[in-house]
Amino acid sequence: MKATDGHHSGSAGDSVLSAGAVPVIRAENLRKVFRSGDADLTVLAGVNLSVNEGELVAIVGPSGSGKSTLLHILAALDTPTSGAIYFAGYSHQALTESEVSDFRNRRVGFVWQRHHLLPDFSAVENVAMPLLLRGIPAAEAMQIARQWLDEVGLAARAHHPAGELSGGEQQRVAFARALAGEPALLLADEPTGDLDEGNAEAIFELMQRLHLSHRLTSILATHNLALARRCHRVLQLEHGILEASGISGQPGSQRKGENR
Ligand code: ADP
Ligand code: MG
Repeated sequence: MKATDGHHSGSAGDSVLSAGAVPVIRAENLRKVFRSGDADLTVLAGVNLSVNEGELVAIVGPSGSGKSTLLHILAALDTPTSGAIYFAGYSHQALTESEVSDFRNRRVGFVWQRHHLLPDFSAVENVAMPLLLRGIPAAEAMQIARQWLDEVGLAARAHHPAGELSGGEQQRVAFARALAGEPALLLADEPTGDLDEGNAEAIFELMQRLHLSHRLTSILATHNLALARRCHRVLQLEHGILEASGISGQPGSQRKGENR
């Protein structure tokens, strides 16, 4: 892996952060253009983003504004048309194919709006799956998976088929699966979008708790402004540009624990 200097730019996101803070993920002038038929659809028109270690940042924006596209690109699940992404100072572009898949599998935990669990497998098997895929022996993977289900409050449902769990329970499994491999970065794409208010609140609180206890750096895409303003910073994605939103977050809260 070749080191690329990712620390010298003065991109917009840097200015609000305290001196000495370390960006975990940084995006520079990201453009994403989808071609549909003859027409080009510019979804990201020069996005700059810098998220520091320990931050929990919300990205808000109307449906179709490109939130999922941006998160997929940050997770290296998709590639930008142009622009650069740095994770811990290393450019995505400088990585070999196997380093990119290592990044996807080990450094990033991804939670989707619709959980993407395997419905016929049990909760504990779903959580163990990414560990098995990276070669951890089955007994150890299942042991780690059980601990994670315990941590998200689902120990009693470990052997239920994932497809028979409630929406809120499925998202708990999805967080356990995303984090079981101990990634540094959590990307959650509208994880509460399909839930009622009570379950949305519970899942958000779970995410805040996991963010703090596992010292994560987290980015949450959401259209729920009440939840967004409980994050440290709120960024708005609109017309392909990401900017500080009019909604203020709770900048100091990552040092104080949960705000309740
Ligand atoms: P959001 O998550 O904010 O709702 P998305 O990132 O899903 O927005 O989509 C942004 C825009 O890009 C939408 O207009 C969507 O239809 C389009 N889009 C997303 N993925 C593709 C694709 N693979 N091919 C063509 N257009 C796409
Ligand atoms: Mg989306």
